[in-house]
Amino acid sequence: MDVFIIVWLVIFGSVFGSFLACMGYRIPNKIKTTYPSSFCNNCKKPLKWYMNIPIISYIILGGKCAYCHKKIGLIYFFCELLCAILFGFNYYLFKFDFNFFISTILTCMLIVTIVSDFEFYYISDRILIIGGMLIIFVSFIFLEKNEALMRLVSGLIMFIVMFGIKLMGNRMFNRESLGDGDIKLMGIIGLSVGLLNSFVALFFGSLTGIFFAIASIKNNKDGLIPFGPFLIIGALMVVYLSQYINPYLEQLLAI
Ligand SMILES: [Zn+2]
Repeated sequence: MDVFIIVWLVIFGSVFGSFLACMGYRIPNKIKTTYPSSFCNNCKKPLKWYMNIPIISYIILGGKCAYCHKKIGLIYFFCELLCAILFGFNYYLFKFDFNFFISTILTCMLIVTIVSDFEFYYISDRILIIGGMLIIFVSFIFLEKNEALMRLVSGLIMFIVMFGIKLMGNRMFNRESLGDGDIKLMGIIGLSVGLLNSFVALFFGSLTGIFFAIASIKNNKDGLIPFGPFLIIGALMVVYLSQYINPYLEQLLAI
């Protein structure tokens, strides 16, 4: 039964990942999310159904548009694959409990943000609002009322803390230190994992972000690093590792 659910989630994840990656392209470019149907980003010709099968079409077409033969960004293939794997993995780890829904909502936000932030340095407010509302909804269903309220407060505090860090950073470096999208995103992460865990997520996110920055230093001409996806990766790591992290945090609080 479990295997059946995982296979189904992997297939659904690849289809949904394809949709989310498409949103990541459309929202920053102000293209409606429902119309037109999928098209080539280069020649704008509409795609036939067999050119639009997640993961498989990319491999069959050799990563190129069937009409204009322009390369399709590897990022879209990567997003479909990542979403498929994580949907299955989230269920494998958590079954259908609270953490499954939190990690799956974060996964969806990650896929959109990978495309929008890496390609256009843009984090969509719409995606943050939808993700935040879903997280609040899931929290009030699965958690005790007090705990769910605490998450709301955590989100708010995290937002204020990040805003403070931005103001300080702006003064110190005399330039925009943190994007507004990153600040709002940390608020959502506060909602998802609670206050203390948000700082752990921020730490993990910064660490993976720095690794990426070092690894991509040759290809990165404009010197900008999209921070959003790494913050969400940090939050996902916290959810995945929560059973190992939480005992330490409790000890820390007890001191
Ligand atoms: Zn084309």
